[in-house]
Formats: sequence, C-alpha cells, structure tokens
Amino acid sequence: MLKAQETVLEIDLNALKHNFKHLKSKLNNNTKFLAVVKAFGYGSDAIEIAKYLQNLNVDYFAVAYANEGVDLRKAGISKPILVLHPLTSNFKAIIEYCLEPSLYNIKVLNEFIEVAAKENQTNYPVHIKFNTGLNRLGFNKNDLDQIVTKLKNTSSVKVKSIFSHLAASEDLDEKAFTLNQIETFKTIAQNFIEAIGYKPILHTCNTSGILNYPEAHFDMVRSGIGLYGFGNSEKENKNLKPIASLKTVISQIHKIDRGESVGYNRAYKSAGFVKTATLPIGHADGIGRQYGNEKGYVIINGKQAPIIGNVCMDMIMVNVTDIDCKEGDEVIVFDTISTAENLAQTAGTISYELITSISQRVKRIFLR
Ligand SMILES: *Cc1c(COP(=O)(O)O)cnc(C)c1O
Repeated sequence: MLKAQETVLEIDLNALKHNFKHLKSKLNNNTKFLAVVKAFGYGSDAIEIAKYLQNLNVDYFAVAYANEGVDLRKAGISKPILVLHPLTSNFKAIIEYCLEPSLYNIKVLNEFIEVAAKENQTNYPVHIKFNTGLNRLGFNKNDLDQIVTKLKNTSSVKVKSIFSHLAASEDLDEKAFTLNQIETFKTIAQNFIEAIGYKPILHTCNTSGILNYPEAHFDMVRSGIGLYGFGNSEKENKNLKPIASLKTVISQIHKIDRGESVGYNRAYKSAGFVKTATLPIGHADGIGRQYGNEKGYVIINGKQAPIIGNVCMDMIMVNVTDIDCKEGDEVIVFDTISTAENLAQTAGTISYELITSISQRVKRIFLR
C-alpha cells in the first residue's frame, strides 16, 4: 500500500464486505438487511458505500434526512431508501425521488397523506415509527386507533413497515428495559396488523440489537456502525473490521527548549527539551479540540505520539521526542489496529462521533 502523502481517509471496501457478510450470518435467510448510510455513510462516503452494498444485494437503505436520499438517487442508487427523520418541508422532494418516509406523529402523517394525494399517488410506501422507550421520535401505542382510522380513509399511502428503535441494545445491564421495548413493539405490531388487515415489514434492531437480541430480528434489521466495523463491545469488535483509516504526514519537526511553548494560547509549555511534529489535520478536519492537551494521540512509526497544546483549525502538534521520525513520514490517526474507538475514548466520546466528524475536506481513497 502507498504511504500517505497528505491527509486521507482510506476506505477498505473488502472490510465492508466482510462486515456485511458477518452481520448477515447472524440472520435467518429471509430476514431483510437495511444498511444505514446516513451522515455520509458514517463519515466514509455514502454513495460509494451504497453502490458497493447494492451490488452485494442489500435489501434497503436508510438515511436520516431527505437530502441524503436525494443524493443517493442522483448517484443511481435504485434500492428502496427509508428517510428516518423527514420534515414536512421535504415531502415533495421525497415523492419526486421515490424516497420512503418514516412517519412519526399525527402531524407528519396527515401532512404526508395530503401531499401524496395532491401528487396523485396511490399506495405510496410509508413507514410508521413507534416510540417504545427511547422517547425521541415515534407514535405512542395510544395513537394506534387514530393512525388506523386515518390510513383506512386514504388510498394515497400504504404502510410498508412498522418499526421502533432500541435505546440501549449495546448495554446488557439494560437487558430488562430492552426486552420490555421488544415486547411493547410486538404488542403494537399485533394490534396494528389486526386493525389494518395486512402485515407490513417489522423491524427494530440496530447493530447491537442484531448481535445481542436475535429473538428480535423480526423481518428486517437496520445496521450502521457494524458495517463500518464497530460492534460496541470488545467481543464483537473482534469479528468486525474498521473500514476507514485516517492517515496524514509530518509537515515539520521542531526542536523545543525548556520553557518554550507550543501552539495557540501557549497551552503546552515544555519542561525540558522536546521534539514536536506538526501535522496537516485539525479541528476543521474532525479532530476536535477535546483531543488536544495530551488527551489524544497518533501513531508514528509504530509509537504513540500525544497531541500537545490546543488543536488548531488546520493542524495539530504532537510530541515525538522519543520517536525516530522525519518530515514526510506517514502518521496514523486511526486504523484497524489503533482504532477510532480507542482514540474516541481518550476524549470521552464514541466511535460514532469521531468517524462521522471527519470533514469533507479530507480526501477519500477507496481500496477495492
Ligand atoms: C442510526 C440508526 C440506526 C443504526 O444504528 P447502528 O447502531 O449504527 O447500527 C438504526 N436505526 C435508526 C432509527 C437509526 O437512527
């Protein structure tokens, strides 16, 4: 593999295939697989990821917002795309681009039906989301009668799926809570099917749900983080491969004497001689200020180099006093060994936040 000569996010599509196959191996043959590609495919590249997974015959995609789905359609993605968090102002675009909205309260249900009718749609596919304990988005079980009455009085839309979202599927200390969410979902689904007279697709598991609650896979599962290589536990991480590696180079090396400072606000002051390396990556690239002041680190020639001082917009400085290195050497910010999850932990956050923060300024390179 070529050494990085600038800041790059390397995306290994073979690792994506491995993760997809591993997660699929946890499912029954007839359980559908929805790939979550919101937020630029968790910071990688939604279009490349979706194209690759479409070729592997994934059943469904999901994005958070309508414009993310529009971008996928414009790039030629033809599989169904669920929009998890549509807003009423997006409804015309949703129909124009054949995206499928999650409808989560009476207001959006009514307004979507109105727009679908105005656009002369019949049986337009929609997804009804129920709140079973996350208390974020979704109808409550008491809304059932109102939803069914509304749906029975229109032919503009048809329910393709009903779903819910688990609040703590990765946390086995919350198993009782999760099992209760699953039971609540089952009851809602039964009542819904009885009232409406047909059976939509049922789904509630995210990645950790797939791994920890096989009894709750229902007809489809929705995986995001697992596809990108993280299983939210040491045990599950072993079976998955992080698909993205963030690499950069050393732009300049400085020799700093005792009492000198490094970076803005003179946040780092040397207690003795230090050697520092300046790297072309900063908070505008997704390495937030919380990684500064020796919280986070990078890997240079196999050794950890702590980030010193404040993270700048376009640069960080790292301590390389004990590392044999020179200007132009490759630097690993995270990869499959020194993972994004490990780096995220140094700043008290999670892999999800770090990987989705890598900004669009960073060049993406694909390994096929
Ligand atoms: C983001 C999201 C997912 C994916 O969750 P992972 O933990 O990344 O697998 C699934 N369902 C919903 C509703 C989401 O918002």
